[in-house]
Amino acid sequence: MNTYDTRPDAYQSVSLDDWTDWRWQQRHQLRAPEDFEGVLELSDREYRGFSQTEGDFRVGVTPYYASLMDPSDPDCPVRRQGLPDPEEARRADFERRDPLAEEEHMPVQGLTHRYPDRVLFYVTHHCPVFCRHCTRKRKVSDPKTAASTGQIEQGLEYIRQNRDVRDVLVSGGDPLTLSDDRLMAILGALRDIDHVEVVRLGTRNPVTLPYRVTESLCDRLAEVAPIYLNTHFNHPREVTSEAQRALRRLLSAGCVLGNQMVLLRGINDDPETVMDLNRRLLSAGCRPYYMLQCDMAQGITHFRTSLRRGLEIMDHLRGRIAGMGVPDFVVDLPGGGGKVELVPQYLEERSRGDAFDEVVFRNWRGETYRFADIVEEYS
Ligand code: SF4
Repeated sequence: MNTYDTRPDAYQSVSLDDWTDWRWQQRHQLRAPEDFEGVLELSDREYRGFSQTEGDFRVGVTPYYASLMDPSDPDCPVRRQGLPDPEEARRADFERRDPLAEEEHMPVQGLTHRYPDRVLFYVTHHCPVFCRHCTRKRKVSDPKTAASTGQIEQGLEYIRQNRDVRDVLVSGGDPLTLSDDRLMAILGALRDIDHVEVVRLGTRNPVTLPYRVTESLCDRLAEVAPIYLNTHFNHPREVTSEAQRALRRLLSAGCVLGNQMVLLRGINDDPETVMDLNRRLLSAGCRPYYMLQCDMAQGITHFRTSLRRGLEIMDHLRGRIAGMGVPDFVVDLPGGGGKVELVPQYLEERSRGDAFDEVVFRNWRGETYRFADIVEEYS
């Protein structure tokens, strides 16, 4: 079963060739209430979401992603990621426009250099779906932030001149919205820089527009392999047969796949949902890499969950799914402090012995075990 077979009535006359053509999907992005009216029953709240967030952050959803939405349930986890909510217009004192201070650490426009060995390279402002929880909603979707050819060339030149840069994360927006030629020009230029050892690509296309992962794109990605490709599935419902095919193709092209899930209230802040998602991803060859605490960005506070909730989910995963399926639970500290990892407390007690310490651990079942810990200063 694929989404063409279950597409909404509004798309019944669309041919399979068009439906699976990523450019057709991009051209037919749903943007206004009237675009959605033929696809799902908009709630009063969603109508208010459109009017109250106008001018703040554009709405954009591919027909493919819209077809994953429950047409009659406004709480559908896919729908909530794509349709605006009046809460986005509310402001909390702690919210920040640029929560990770990416703009403050830009030596040249569109390139953030915070850690000595890594840069974040912003190459486009466009995405197939403008996710309501986007941490870069200050600029993603805004035509004024489009990365020009000159800006990209300036970023590449900066990387060429800075031999400390070993790792480049190509991001945006979604870099896979670029044409094959434009994307490959960037990736090829990075591969030509001797000191760049790792090239990463951050893209949500496998989730929002898996048809973008064409055989011809993958043939070209294979020429610059390995690419560390991190994607962003948030809910098991997004792991469709088309998404799985896209992941398989990327694997065959030599990409190393990881998933960066964002913890979102009412969408995936539930241990069984995360477990189901991670199982599906593992079976498709994509390793759950991060479970990210939602940032302090403007207009996304209604999506945020407590840190305690995240730890409960981590505690539930451990032991019930192989370690490969347990991501790092990470908070990206505001102001550019970087990532810190949170883990449930397993060490319950430590007592001092003559030659070693005795440590009591709790395991995933809640059973306790004693462990002899070598203490260097005793020997
Ligand atoms: S795909 Fe990524 S960059 Fe684009 S809107 Fe979604 S979260 Fe933001």
